Amino acid sequence: MKIVVAVKRVIDANVKVRVKADGTGVEMANVKMAMNPFCEIAVEEALRIKEAGGADEVVIVSAGPQGATETIRTALAMGADRGVHVLTDAVLEPLAVAKLLKAVIDKEQPGLVILGKQAIDDDCNQTGQMLAALLGWAQATFASKIEIAGDSATVTREIDGGLEKVAVKLPAVVTTDLRLNEPRYASLPNIMKAKKKPIEAMAPDALGVDIAPRLTVLKVEEPPKRSAGVKVETAAELVAKLHDAGVI
Ligand code: AMP
Repeated sequence: MKIVVAVKRVIDANVKVRVKADGTGVEMANVKMAMNPFCEIAVEEALRIKEAGGADEVVIVSAGPQGATETIRTALAMGADRGVHVLTDAVLEPLAVAKLLKAVIDKEQPGLVILGKQAIDDDCNQTGQMLAALLGWAQATFASKIEIAGDSATVTREIDGGLEKVAVKLPAVVTTDLRLNEPRYASLPNIMKAKKKPIEAMAPDALGVDIAPRLTVLKVEEPPKRSAGVKVETAAELVAKLHDAGVI
């Protein structure tokens, strides 16, 4: 079985994101970029399935500007076999990404597609669901455990207040939650090996996909600044303040 993993390049989770002065978006110039953390978990899971004998190839797909090659290379250094880079500088909404992924998947014919549950930049949590709908495949979102057996998978899902187990027929789309695994670091020899692994580049046009945005961003704003806290001398004073504020 082949596994396709979709990875997104985003602003590094440790970077303090700054909103542009004109409110049209966030500052991207000279900002450290990294693989979306949920995508790292998706790559790790695909590698573990392959290492356990459940798959024979792990293919990484990313859509975005030139820098996305670096992110694909990171996944190859973790152990994936090859990459597909849909090269575009355009703003990509989840629907456009889902259509691009579908076009690649139509060619690749994997048995399983793993995505992150959400990208930490747009927080959309839409691409996996849209992709499953476009493909007409089963989907299991927010996975904290994936067990493959023959032509089906049992996926444990993180839901409000508990866990849910679903069985899906393969091929299927699965999106990863935080507790699924802890992604490995790429070793130096594997980073060197990854330089020789193939990455195929293609344009959205070549895949026959219309990626024109359907949404208009009206404004991006910083969250309101939190005002400083107040130190109280006694528990009684705290209770009085909470009471006055209507908290208790
Ligand atoms: P989102 O729906 O934007 O929150 O993204 C959910 C997941 O879809 C991500 O974790 C990735 O696995 C995948 N994805 C989103 N954007 C891209 C992209 N440009 N290229 C490849 N995969 C993507």
